[in-house]
Amino acid sequence: MSSQLETLNSSIDEVAALFDVQLNDAPAPVEEREALKAAPKFGTVFSDHMARVTWKDGEGWTARRVEKYGPLQLDPAAAVLHYGQEIFEGLKAYRHADGSVWSFRPEENARRYIRSARRLALPELSVDDFIGSIAALVRTDIEWIPTGDEAALYLRPFMIATEAFLGVRPALEAEHLVIASPVGPYFSGGVHPVNIWISQDYARASRGGTGEAKCGGNYAASLLPQIQAAREGFDQVCFLDGQADPAIEELGGMNVFFVKANGDIVTPALSGSILRGVTRSSILQLIKDRDINVTEEHITLASLKAMLESGEIAEAFACGTAAVITPIGRLADHDFDVTINGGEPGKTTMDIREELTDIQNGRRPDRHGWLTRLA
Ligand SMILES: *Cc1c(COP(=O)(O)O)cnc(C)c1O
Repeated sequence: MSSQLETLNSSIDEVAALFDVQLNDAPAPVEEREALKAAPKFGTVFSDHMARVTWKDGEGWTARRVEKYGPLQLDPAAAVLHYGQEIFEGLKAYRHADGSVWSFRPEENARRYIRSARRLALPELSVDDFIGSIAALVRTDIEWIPTGDEAALYLRPFMIATEAFLGVRPALEAEHLVIASPVGPYFSGGVHPVNIWISQDYARASRGGTGEAKCGGNYAASLLPQIQAAREGFDQVCFLDGQADPAIEELGGMNVFFVKANGDIVTPALSGSILRGVTRSSILQLIKDRDINVTEEHITLASLKAMLESGEIAEAFACGTAAVITPIGRLADHDFDVTINGGEPGKTTMDIREELTDIQNGRRPDRHGWLTRLA
C-alpha cells in the first residue's frame, strides 16, 4: 500500500483549494442559524453545505466539491442499501478564543478511514483528500461553528458504495461525503455518570469481523442490545469479545478505561475487534505523561467482576470524540450490579477530561502537536 496516501503531503490551503465551492443559494437566515447553533441537540442540526468526492473504478477520485447540503440521489440498487458497504468517521472543529479553527489529530481519523475502507473493500481516500474535504467544508460553513464551553462543529465524513448492482462484490462506484453539525456540551447541566449494562447475549463484533473498522454495520448490531439495556434501566451497553472466557471490549461507540484504587489505570488491549479510538490513544499518552502506570490488558469479565466487587476498581470511564470522557457510575449484567465511586464522577477521570478538553480548545499548550489549524 502506498504510504503517500497515509500522510498529509501538502498544506491545508493546498488540499482545501482542490475543492470547487458551489455556494448554497438559499442558506439558513442568520437569525435562524444563530438560534440553531445556540442549543443544538446532538446530531439534529446541519450546516448549509456538504463536501463531496466521487470515485469510479478506473478513474479514481474526481469532482472534489463543496455543495448545498441536501438529499442524495441514489439508485435503489446502490450497493450500500443492500450489502452495507459503508464506513464513517467522527471528529470536531473547535473555535479557539482568538477566532482560529482547529481540529484534533485529523490525520489519525484519515488513516483510520483508509483502514476501514480496506476492510469494507471500499476505495481508499488519501489523507490529503480527507483533510481537504474537511477544511473546505469548515471554511465554507465557518459561521456554523458554535462558540462556548465544549461547543464544536461535529464533522461526519462517510463513504458509501453507490454502484447500482445487486451482485455480491465490491462496488465499482462510491462517494465520500462530509456533513457538519453544530454540537453543544454533550452533558447539559454538567458531566454526570452513565450506567452500563454488560451484554452477555449479544456481541457487536467478533474475531475476524469488522469491529476494528468504523462502519455502520457495527452500530446496527449494537441497537438491539441497546434496547435491552434501556429496558433494564441502563444508558449504554458494554460488549464482550464473544469468546469462551469472555473479555471486556468496549461500548457501542466508546472505548473504556478503569482506574484502580492504587492509582494504576487499565484499558482493554486492542484485540482486532475493538475500535482504535483517537481519544483512547490520546488518553493513554496523557496518562503516561502523568507518570501513572497504565496498561492495555486482556480483561476477562470474571476478573473485572472480582475487581469491582473487591473495590480494586475505583473509577471507570468511557471515551470517544462526541462525549470526550464519560464517567461510568454503575456496571451490571445478569449476575452482578456494582456502583462505582458512589455513582459520582471520579477525580482522575475528571482531571484527564479537563486536560484533554483544554488542549482541544486551546486553553493548554498542545505539547504533542495534536492540533491542526483548519481556518
Ligand atoms: C468512533 C468509535 C469510538 C471512539 O473513537 P474516537 O476516535 O475516540 O472518537 C470507539 N468505539 C467505537 C465502536 C467507535 O465507533
